[in-house]
Amino acid sequence: MNSLRQLTHFIDGHSVPASGGRWADVFNPASGQVVARVPLAGAEQTRQAIAAAAAAWPAWADTPPLRRARLLFKFRELLECHSDELAAIITAEHGKVLADARGEVIRGMEVVEFACGIPQLLKGEYSDQIGSAVDSWSLRQPVGVCAGITPFNFPVMVPMWMFPLALACGNTFVLKPSERDPSVSLLIADLLARAGLPPGVFNVIHGDREAVDTLLTDPRVAAVSFVGSTPVAEHIYATGCAHGKRVQALGGAKNHLVIMPDADLDQAVEALIGAAYGSAGERCMAISVAVAVGDVGDALVAALARRSAALKIGPGSAPDVDMGPLVTGQHLARVRSYVDQGVVEGAQLVVDGRQLRVAGHEEGYFLGACLFDRVSPAMSIYRAEIFGPVLCVVRVADFDAAVALINAHEYGNGVAVFTRSGHAAREFVRRIEVGMVGINVPIPVPMAFHSFGGWKRSLFGDHAIHGPDGVHFYTRLKTVTARWPEEVASAASFVMPTH
Ligand code: NAD
Repeated sequence: MNSLRQLTHFIDGHSVPASGGRWADVFNPASGQVVARVPLAGAEQTRQAIAAAAAAWPAWADTPPLRRARLLFKFRELLECHSDELAAIITAEHGKVLADARGEVIRGMEVVEFACGIPQLLKGEYSDQIGSAVDSWSLRQPVGVCAGITPFNFPVMVPMWMFPLALACGNTFVLKPSERDPSVSLLIADLLARAGLPPGVFNVIHGDREAVDTLLTDPRVAAVSFVGSTPVAEHIYATGCAHGKRVQALGGAKNHLVIMPDADLDQAVEALIGAAYGSAGERCMAISVAVAVGDVGDALVAALARRSAALKIGPGSAPDVDMGPLVTGQHLARVRSYVDQGVVEGAQLVVDGRQLRVAGHEEGYFLGACLFDRVSPAMSIYRAEIFGPVLCVVRVADFDAAVALINAHEYGNGVAVFTRSGHAAREFVRRIEVGMVGINVPIPVPMAFHSFGGWKRSLFGDHAIHGPDGVHFYTRLKTVTARWPEEVASAASFVMPTH
């Protein structure tokens, strides 16, 4: 093995080196260079992390919520102090531009801020005198060891959709971050430890399917949160449920933005450009389809073509760059092959980013913005989640056709409508079968105190992530019925009590 930085796991409060086994390369996508090696844990080492979390659980579950909250306040302070460092690590391994990486850290911090209110969030319900001298109340208790399996595209924010609330609710946690940009999760573990989190309460295990399948089948894991692609989400949901766990599995997306004929076109174009090409389209809430209603298509495509051809593309660490590289060479090849297929299938490639070369970064995984016009629902570039800087324009006759198009898609994560009509917007909200809806807002990501989640094949399970749904997911409801009789016992009753 060469002298490259070798990552470790983080188990029971310590960095733990790999116990043999497989490794994967971690790349800087702007240069194509390998920057680190990440261990891929086998079942035994994964079970070590689960054991640490299981051992730490009883004491952590007994820690008063107020004290758990104070620790999270401290963690939040440390996140703020280290936000530049966190963002730099994200950019180095993911490739997104630094300002966007900073935004990701802040959106993650907002979940920590929400979790700091846990004493209030865990308050139960109480009913006095539900029967004669009988009271009843409900409380929410932690579930136990929770696992988080996260994607490459938000290596800080997506784990922070999960563990701050899980920990605040009194659970312990094993994070299995993406093996493509794993380093930042170790800084997070370090900051949690510095905030005073007891050993074993938060653990990081690196790996791939072998580690994940161990988490899904080990009886000590009570709950699994997953965010990633739909085929894997489906596997996680089916396997986790079959092993008696509660599972929330958020999957892929194909997000549409509808431009009504009365929309402010300049606003819609600017919104589309940012939402389609920001983070090189590697966002689950990226807009990948513009739905042009009525006669808006020609003007829209002309304006989008001008703007997308002028984007500044380069390494995410450089100033004034709009879009960085894709995450890996393999992903770049996959996205390019979709663009090739779109051409073969007969869509009009109005802007072709395939020839882009970034001077000084010839080995980086760059792809210029691509814009397709006259895309039809049967084409693979319309059906599949491409997860790259590729925007498809579909032209439809009217509002009803736009709604029908979107509702027929297998995904239902995010959607937006741009219009000046309150009536059209209201109808859209009521009729659209998508979990997160924007009105003149292109990327309607719910804030931490609301819950985030799509419909259809974008989410498997009953709970969305963070916000009130997050508290429910990471706790079990217990309802108590109590009486304190002063008299001698009443006679046995053989009928349902009715008063
Ligand atoms: P991915 O599904 O390839 O990987 C996600 C996680 O699952 C990683 O930790 C990975 O190691 C693990 N994994 C991969 N293959 C596995 C397998 N066969 N068995 C078990 N575990 C496996 O996703 P990705 O490429 O890292 O991320 C991009 C995807 O995530 C896109 O589809 C995007 O839409 C989705 N995403 C969804 C949301 C959302 O909120 N719905 C948010 C962010 C990303």
